[in-house]
Amino acid sequence: MSATGVLIWAEIADGAATASSYELLGLGRRLADDMGGPLSAVVLGPESAAAIEQLISRGADSVYVFDDPDQSEFHTDAALLVLEAAADKVEPALFLLPHSSYGTELAPRLAFRNESAPAMGCVDGRVEDGKLLLTRPCYGGRARAVVSFRSAPAIATLRPKSQEPLAAEPGRQGETISLDINIPPETIRVNVRERRQNVEQGVRLDEAEIVISGGRGLGGPDGFKILEELADALGGAVGASRPACDLGWYPQAHQVGISGKTVAPDLYIAVGISGAGQHMAGCAGAKVLVAINKDPDASIFSYAHIGIASEYQEILPEILELIRR
Ligand SMILES: Cc1cc2nc3c(=O)[nH]c(=O)nc-3n(C[C@H](O)[C@H](O)[C@H](O)COP(=O)(O)OP(=O)(O)OC[C@H]3O[C@@H](n4cnc5c(N)ncnc54)[C@H](O)[C@@H]3O)c2cc1C
Repeated sequence: MSATGVLIWAEIADGAATASSYELLGLGRRLADDMGGPLSAVVLGPESAAAIEQLISRGADSVYVFDDPDQSEFHTDAALLVLEAAADKVEPALFLLPHSSYGTELAPRLAFRNESAPAMGCVDGRVEDGKLLLTRPCYGGRARAVVSFRSAPAIATLRPKSQEPLAAEPGRQGETISLDINIPPETIRVNVRERRQNVEQGVRLDEAEIVISGGRGLGGPDGFKILEELADALGGAVGASRPACDLGWYPQAHQVGISGKTVAPDLYIAVGISGAGQHMAGCAGAKVLVAINKDPDASIFSYAHIGIASEYQEILPEILELIRR
């Protein structure tokens, strides 16, 4: 079999494939078609049955499943063996993994085992003259680097919210292949002893259609109260810049940016945020960006579709009042 296919690692949560798995399928489908190869997915865990159908309906030609009750907890050590077992059958030209905590651990280990190199945090890809090219942000999100691979197979992680997921095509046919592999217990060197769910109230930040983010310009944690009221009124979620999180004003799970979450809402309202490249890398996919900043020369205004040069304490209560009315 020639190496022309793409193999994606599909993450499963609560029995369903995650949104980022669909994005991987979106990019993977395009690249596999351009290389003239198949698109395959690998899933791990006893809850994967429902996910298989979803993955096929959204672009996978085949899904490799390791459905072992002992793998109810995710172990990178086991996942590596499962990926390798699937790769033995597919011989992919490209492994595509999510840029999640699991994906970013798996990709370098996979690269080491394959004597290849990983391209981390990619946002796009294409095939040009038969050569696979991947794009990723660099210099803190100020520029984009296009990378190619000297070694094979190519291995890459994809940032969430960077690709359009393919729409589901009901009735689409694909193959499901069970992987029959033995994972000796001594292979699993890290054990999950406790799992704590991050309790998020209201709309999830990475799924919200409206995000209102606050930065250092809010002056303290109290500044986030009016952002929460606005998010409630609009059915949105609250985000924060890195300094606001580092200073403990808002939970780190809400950080937007290159070292935080990537969001692509219909509306992003940045309040007291200067517009550093590292922050903008996390919200560049917003359809409409509104900036509220007291400094009319703040660089955020060069990105904003609508700019309001004002102290947020003056303008936000008025906006909230209008929305509530
Ligand atoms: C490797 C690396 C990774 C990073 N990752 C991230 C990341 O993921 N996310 C991120 O956000 N940053 C990240 N940063 C930090 C980034 O470079 C900036 O320092 C940060 O985004 C600035 O945050 P800020 O805009 O909240 O604060 P500032 O730059 O201090 O801006 C505050 C703004 O608030 C305005 N302001 C002040 N008072 C008011 C008021 N009353 N009303 C209205 N406006 C007001 C000011 O005019 C100013 O423009 C990273 C940096 C590095 C080096």
